[in-house]
Amino acid sequence: MSEALYSQARFNDPDAARKHLESIRWPSGPVCPHCGGTERNSLMHGKSHRPGLYFCGDCRDPFTVTVGTVFERSKIGLHKWLHAMQLMCSSKKGVSSHQLHRTLGVTYKTAWFMSHRIREALRSGSLAPFGEGGGSVEVDETFIGRPRSSKAHQAQRDAQA
Ligand SMILES: [Zn+2]
Repeated sequence: MSEALYSQARFNDPDAARKHLESIRWPSGPVCPHCGGTERNSLMHGKSHRPGLYFCGDCRDPFTVTVGTVFERSKIGLHKWLHAMQLMCSSKKGVSSHQLHRTLGVTYKTAWFMSHRIREALRSGSLAPFGEGGGSVEVDETFIGRPRSSKAHQAQRDAQA
């Protein structure tokens, strides 16, 4: 993988990472993960609010793009998560926790936690909530999420027939 890829903002800056994730997860604007509302979501401003915090005018609950994803409530910067996933998904041989620890500049314990969580999410498909409805999310050219089963495809074809 090229160095240029990893110098991109989303792998180095938490705000850029969040915006990247927002553009993937919400291609047509923010969607409330609590009620599915799309019309009355407003970005909350002010120092007391986390960046990227929205308020849903329908259910009156706040949310960010990470709600319902493996990143939810994580203290680890989102850019580090994206970087770790990119590394893990683009390496055929896999990436060790030691490698993540060195590359991301996080403690070994954190690196271990991240790789464990990402691997588990990939295996179980539970990363899928981060593309609503079990869709996939493109971190780079790598897709993460539950692949649509051939059964589902068949059912869809049948429905269209
Ligand atoms: Zn809502």
